[in-house]
Amino acid sequence: MAGSYQFGTQFTAHMVTATWSRAKGWGAPELTERRPIPLDPTAVGLHYGQSVFEGLKAHRQPDGHISIFRPHAHASRMRQSAARLAMPEPPVDLFVEALEMFVRADGDALPDDPSLSLYVRPLLIATESTLALRPADEFLFVVLGFVTKAFFTGGMNPVSVWVSPDFARAMPGGTGAAKYTGNYAPTFAAQTQAAENGCDQVVWLDAVERRWVEELGGMNLFFVHRDRITTPPLTGTLLPGVTRDCLLQLAPGLGYAVAEEPIAIDEWRAGCHDGSIVETLACGTAAIVTPIGAVKTASESWTVGDGTTGPVAKALYDALQAVQQGRAEDPFGWRYPV
Ligand code: PMP
Repeated sequence: MAGSYQFGTQFTAHMVTATWSRAKGWGAPELTERRPIPLDPTAVGLHYGQSVFEGLKAHRQPDGHISIFRPHAHASRMRQSAARLAMPEPPVDLFVEALEMFVRADGDALPDDPSLSLYVRPLLIATESTLALRPADEFLFVVLGFVTKAFFTGGMNPVSVWVSPDFARAMPGGTGAAKYTGNYAPTFAAQTQAAENGCDQVVWLDAVERRWVEELGGMNLFFVHRDRITTPPLTGTLLPGVTRDCLLQLAPGLGYAVAEEPIAIDEWRAGCHDGSIVETLACGTAAIVTPIGAVKTASESWTVGDGTTGPVAKALYDALQAVQQGRAEDPFGWRYPV
């Protein structure tokens, strides 16, 4: 696999699939060469959006074997996403078995280089051919992946974020807490706006009051106050990130008090101005931990801390990577050796 390891561009050789039908339930997972899937143009997943996905990583360990990071947490989130979209929930054992089959088949594609990991992408999509407006009777579960480079191999570069004045990501009662494919395309227009305003990412506010800071397009947020670290609570309108959960569990061991607390955009700005908020960081499977250096809205902009990577972002990044890469103890049982 030659190339730049650019995210999601060069896939490994195999995939694992499993079917579900209302009549027969789940079939056994099957390993094949990676290839196009048969999909009728009237597949429900294409028209009515019954499709959810996951994203997780596997890391090469110091002794050479590969460990999948928190597969059970990702299985349970896919089950929650599927339930929200009236889809069959893949059994945890099936989900984990499919991941193991994939990693056994394509683990060799992962070089012995700690800056690289195997990103695994499970997908569940409605394949039944019908335009009747109802949940499908047939689904396909697919696991595939690619080798990817850690974002920050030569030091962490803070990103700038754009607060969209007119777009919203998720509403109460909607699908914001599901890893639902339909949550992503609507963010592209806002991402274009962000780029036009010189920003790297969009930061989403709640859709009702347009006041509470929720998350980024593919990452959750943490705010470093002088006495504690906070992250917005899981209100149902943001994705329950597995990395978010990891940082909540790792932070106390590093000497940081953590709390799930809402934060208003005005409080974020005021905290950055008066120095009570010293860092803000985003976290997710792909980005691991990403410091936020600057915030821009339609009317103003401000710097977070001194705009550079702070010590808390660095400490959390290092602690998480050490567990993932097998360089530290695994007190929470997050590594799943294959
Ligand atoms: N928010 C959104 C909208 C996401 O797509 C992701 C990536 N799955 C995250 C947060 C971070 O979640 P995780 O830490 O599980 O990757």
